[in-house]
Amino acid sequence: MNTTKRENPKTIALLGGTFDPIHLGHILPAQETALWLGAEQLHLIPAHIPPHKTGTHASAKQRAEMVALACEPAKGVLLDSRELDRDSPSYTIDTLREITKAQPKATLYFIMGMDSLLTFTKWRHWQEILTLCNLVVNIRPGYQHHELERTLEPELAKRLIYRLTKLQREKVGQILLHESTPLDISSTKIRANIKNSISYSEYLPKPVYHYIKQNKLYR
Ligand code: ATP
Repeated sequence: MNTTKRENPKTIALLGGTFDPIHLGHILPAQETALWLGAEQLHLIPAHIPPHKTGTHASAKQRAEMVALACEPAKGVLLDSRELDRDSPSYTIDTLREITKAQPKATLYFIMGMDSLLTFTKWRHWQEILTLCNLVVNIRPGYQHHELERTLEPELAKRLIYRLTKLQREKVGQILLHESTPLDISSTKIRANIKNSISYSEYLPKPVYHYIKQNKLYR
């Protein structure tokens, strides 16, 4: 990533998540995507109280500390803890409004997995989200695009873009599909492995692994 313009980046990639814990399946595809986009920064945004989940396993502070350990500021990967500071559920729309206000000139790319795109129209103020950023959806290589167009709401299907070169000059409202290397890792699997004493270190950045061990998390 080109990280020379730290103060006022022109292009910012965003990845929100519960990060309970953050793992390589979050970081590596997101970094690959940010690089592909030419983004100057990748912001990792831990959710405070995820509206779609009943609760978290580690505390908000611990999840943020693990994200901080996974960040590589020199490579433009930064922790954005604004959702943790809120005393209310995390909604992407609020986060995007805040970032837009702080960085009005930046183009924002909100990264998500295919599972999230399929439920996107259930997100709070999803139409407004599309007025503040572009979405970038990580898909498996060889994914059948016509299948997606059939499944998706027409309002979303018409915004799909398959190649970066097709990206319009508009800063917002487009849904870019990006083929990223699939990694079969989830926080659920890591938590289950820890409970069942199955190895899990290979799914995590080293400092996060040591943090989990030191703090006896997820046992
Ligand atoms: P859990 O297992 O607790 O549901 P998770 O591992 O799916 O957690 P989240 O924090 O819910 O992680 O995910 C945050 C974002 O990261 C989502 O957009 C999700 O699609 C994406 N993501 C999670 N795991 C992967 C992976 N292995 N490859 C690519 N994207 C991923």
